[in-house]
Amino acid sequence: MISRWDDHEAAGFEGALGQRVYSSRLLGREPSLVLHGGGNTSVKASITDLFGEQQRLLFIKGSGHDLRSIDARGFAPLRMPPVLRLAELAVLSDTDMGRELRAACTDPDAPSPSVEAILHAALPADYVDHTHADAVITLSNSEDGEARVREVYGDDVVVVPYVMPGFRLAKRFVEEHLPQVGPTTLGIVLLNHGLITFADTARDSYERTVELVSRAEAYLERRGAWQLPLDHEPPPSQPQRLELARVRADVAAAAGKPMLLRAHQDPLALSFARHEDVATMSQQGPATPDHVIRTKRLPLVGRDVAGYAEAYRAYVRELAAGAEDDLAPVDPAPRVVLDPDLGMLAVGSDPEDLIVTGDLYRHTMEIVLRATALGGYRALPASDVFDVEYWYLEQRKLERPGGAAEFAGEVALVTGAASGIGKACVASLLLRGAAVVGLDVDDAIERSFEGPAYLGLGCDVTDEAQVEDAFERTVRAFGGLDMLVLNAGIFPPAQPVVELGSDTWRRVLGVNLDANLVFLRHAHPLLALAPKRGRVAIIGSKNVPAPGPGAAAYSASKAALNQLARVTALEWARDGIRINSVHPDAVFDTALWTEELLASRAKHYGMSVDQYKRKNLLRVEVTSRHVAELAAAMCGALFECTTGGQLPVDGGNERVI
Ligand code: ZN
Repeated sequence: MISRWDDHEAAGFEGALGQRVYSSRLLGREPSLVLHGGGNTSVKASITDLFGEQQRLLFIKGSGHDLRSIDARGFAPLRMPPVLRLAELAVLSDTDMGRELRAACTDPDAPSPSVEAILHAALPADYVDHTHADAVITLSNSEDGEARVREVYGDDVVVVPYVMPGFRLAKRFVEEHLPQVGPTTLGIVLLNHGLITFADTARDSYERTVELVSRAEAYLERRGAWQLPLDHEPPPSQPQRLELARVRADVAAAAGKPMLLRAHQDPLALSFARHEDVATMSQQGPATPDHVIRTKRLPLVGRDVAGYAEAYRAYVRELAAGAEDDLAPVDPAPRVVLDPDLGMLAVGSDPEDLIVTGDLYRHTMEIVLRATALGGYRALPASDVFDVEYWYLEQRKLERPGGAAEFAGEVALVTGAASGIGKACVASLLLRGAAVVGLDVDDAIERSFEGPAYLGLGCDVTDEAQVEDAFERTVRAFGGLDMLVLNAGIFPPAQPVVELGSDTWRRVLGVNLDANLVFLRHAHPLLALAPKRGRVAIIGSKNVPAPGPGAAAYSASKAALNQLARVTALEWARDGIRINSVHPDAVFDTALWTEELLASRAKHYGMSVDQYKRKNLLRVEVTSRHVAELAAAMCGALFECTTGGQLPVDGGNERVI
């Protein structure tokens, strides 16, 4: 590991807290040090309060802040004396500690201080950096780990055996290990947990972390344990979407709610999942205590989700045996599944959670493989994991149950999604908490939306191989399919029937009708596995009930699609799949309509553009958003008892009514 410190960059950050922000971000840029909010940093500084008095404060990272992006407001300012005094108590519950730390905070708007505040306050230096450095954890979580740590660092570090993070760790440290810290101490190794460095400048403390981690990496290199033993066999090329969707259905059944699942099939994930010792290697326990919370204590090896859930329930019953009342209602579904054919599957309740779980377990796989190469992976003793898990479940009881988004944990696919109604459908579904895949021939689809809940794929809907590939990629990314919105369509220039060529006819029916049959056929087995039952929304047209002259191919294609949808509704009801259609008219904020076209059509009717846009009974302008909201609502609980339905969204039309 190299130091990323840059004096020029650092100069842009003012004062002690500014320097703290800068070097915290440097740590945050190394995924092998801190991941997704892991690790914490602090700085001690004197400030003058409103009364002109000097106060010594500990600015410590607030929980929920990520070192990658933290700024000054991410640190909670605590008065030092009351924090230090807490270490004198014999016992202190997590709830009481949280309350005392908040009471010591001088800013009521600051975030909740990290549970390691007491430990940070006790260290005799201004800057303190705490990370869960992979290389250090690899040493400590291997056979003879403590001896290896001592061999690598000698007297340069103080070694602290594992203690549950929080008050217990702080107390033990202050009483037993703080006296060992001397002027030449470079850091503290917390066995099975991580590393702490401290110094009077931000740079020194940061660079001590870099140095100590580099020494661990060099040790692993010398022992031939740094290079990961990866086999580079190509990932499976045969379709796996049904197998994956079945695992996801089982996970959702165990969790009691829809869940997302992502297949990791790169060399690291496949090598680990196919390792001959995976069944023992992966069952030793988590790499660090904070992983217990995200990835659960153990992954599932194989596909027996129900068996895993049953075992986990029994484990929680055991955990709760000494408790006064029940632990929080537990979701016993696994968060990581290892399967030789499917790779490493990460499970999450939402897209962000899905990424965090996957990233954490990727680091676990590296740590386990390297520690195995050193002679064997040894995680925390089961009783310590037990404590962390119990603590976590207790904390969950205190959480207020928030209302989950309507489509949380569900997956939707929208065709023709780069613009207009399709794009608006993606937005409406994202807003309701779904993970959404947008398809379009226009490559702009890949960048239409940002964030972990969206995946945009270029796809020509008339090419069956591309369509199948899109389904495959959807399921590898999110685990299954719950909602399908068929929107892609074309509207050729107006032509009377006598001039309508067969090529135009076939092209329009190819996109507006035939392609949708292919989508429905491939979607069916996936929708049948949807935890809350599959839904299809069809973007039809006013031309179905009320066709117009010059639009024969378009009207015929939409009318045929309408019959296809109705027959499908009849056939799929037995699988609980609902299919409903919306019939929009005169939606002008789509790619089909340009300013010039709009002006010329308005002129044709002797109207202003605004009058032309509101040429309906209600005199309203119908937008893509109106259509999308109705399509999304049709996938929701409001339409739970409706299938084969058709609703106009056209401002009212005499010919339709
Ligand atoms: Zn920690």
